[in-house]
Amino acid sequence: MSTPNILVLAETHDNTPADITLELLGGARQLAAATGGQVVAIVLGQAGSAAAEKMVGADRVVVIEDATLDAYSPGPYLAVLEHILTLESPRAVLIGSTTVGLDVGPALGAKLDAPVVGNCLRIEKQDDMLSVTSSLCGGKILADVEVRRGPAILMVLPGSFHATDQPATPEVDRRASPVPLEPGRITFDQMILPEAGDVDITAQDILVGVGRGIQQEDNMEVAEELAEALGGALCASRPIVDQGWLPTTRQVGKSGMTVKPKLYLALGISGAPEHLEGMKGTGLVIAVNTDPNAPIFDVAQYGTELDLLDLAPELTEAIKTRRVAT
Ligand SMILES: Cc1cc2nc3c(=O)[nH]c(=O)nc-3n(C[C@H](O)[C@H](O)[C@H](O)COP(=O)(O)OP(=O)(O)OC[C@H]3O[C@@H](n4cnc5c(N)ncnc54)[C@H](O)[C@@H]3O)c2cc1C
Repeated sequence: MSTPNILVLAETHDNTPADITLELLGGARQLAAATGGQVVAIVLGQAGSAAAEKMVGADRVVVIEDATLDAYSPGPYLAVLEHILTLESPRAVLIGSTTVGLDVGPALGAKLDAPVVGNCLRIEKQDDMLSVTSSLCGGKILADVEVRRGPAILMVLPGSFHATDQPATPEVDRRASPVPLEPGRITFDQMILPEAGDVDITAQDILVGVGRGIQQEDNMEVAEELAEALGGALCASRPIVDQGWLPTTRQVGKSGMTVKPKLYLALGISGAPEHLEGMKGTGLVIAVNTDPNAPIFDVAQYGTELDLLDLAPELTEAIKTRRVAT
């Protein structure tokens, strides 16, 4: 018999919760309001300990302070998580669809004989079960899944939930590992960070996205000037990156970055599921596409069928003129 509590497997970087962790805590908060339970974040390792107080949305944070857990290794992680889950007996465990999450989630499900759902976009309580929407085939199929028993291991796609601001200060419980730990057979080697010097599109409030509708490399300048006038940055769909017109660090989508700007101006982007997957968390989407049936219009709040090569330079001029006037 599970408790109504919702657990979140936290990930941290540089003494700070990862964005996906704050989103999971926001989702867990909503779910816990329906189940009537608490939100409990699990931080594994000494290295993440300083981030515990910043787990906004958690009622309680359990930190397992053991250096063996500082870098991800499946053996020690699974040993500790199996113990905690058995002890806590939560209704659900939310895990990010990240490199770590995708590795540990299914293995945990197998160890505990627990139901596992991947690529979750929506999680709600319905009567005594959880109703979950899972994105399949890069978003082309949405499956509604009913999870009747706990603990449900739910791996959540980035951008599916918003971070919350309450409770701001969780209760933190730091413990030694409840099980003896030995370094795992798979060990962490090194972290390879994206090339330095380029813009981090995941941290931008305003993004101008360029798609194949830009037609040729020379036209990229038009979009670059518009992004600059708006005070934002340029990003792109995969074909633009494949052509080498922008670096891979600027690609939005399934095989690129997950962005959540306040404004995403999509220029000549059709709105393929693989692209939309990376921009689900956007506040306002404005689409410029000459095809009125382009799927991007299904997710855009505003749109126009004008040719982007006509519109973008005029828009840039209009913004600059207004800036000068004010
Ligand atoms: C496993 C896998 C992973 C993938 N990962 C990604 C990913 O991470 N990111 C990604 O973006 N894609 C990804 N893709 C590719 C994806 O399926 C699409 O092919 C791609 O997103 C299409 O890019 P696009 O919208 O720029 O081009 P198109 O689909 O060709 O769309 C171009 C659009 O521009 C419009 N247009 C043309 N001329 C103009 C004009 N002058 N003014 C205005 N509009 C104009 C057209 O009407 C059209 O809608 C992936 C595919 C696979 C199979």
